[in-house]
Amino acid sequence: MMFSDLSDDSSPRCPICNGEGPPAGRDSVCPGCQELLDWCRQHLAELLEVPPEAITLKADLEHDLGADSLDIVELVMEVEEYFDVQVPDEEALKQMRTLTDAVRYIQAQTRRQPASAR
Ligand SMILES: [Zn+2]
Repeated sequence: MMFSDLSDDSSPRCPICNGEGPPAGRDSVCPGCQELLDWCRQHLAELLEVPPEAITLKADLEHDLGADSLDIVELVMEVEEYFDVQVPDEEALKQMRTLTDAVRYIQAQTRRQPASAR
């Protein structure tokens, strides 16, 4: 969809939100994404009983990490509770293929429904 937009190799961008970095830290994402990334990774690690290091940005939750739809639904429930947003299970299942997708998806949801608006 948006992979072809203006990427400038001279200024590294966050691979998740495509915002100006500086990408720092272990995952080379911007600080805002890192926070959400850590949250997702930790919860996924607990749900899937895998070491957090195994959950890389591009690891496929289902094929690489053995997640099934119930695991994703459970993550979605935690996301809903923690971030105070509504996430349709079916939509989430379709969209959350990797950790990067999950973080992007949660960002989109929280942007769409600021907690104060409910
Ligand atoms: Zn970012």
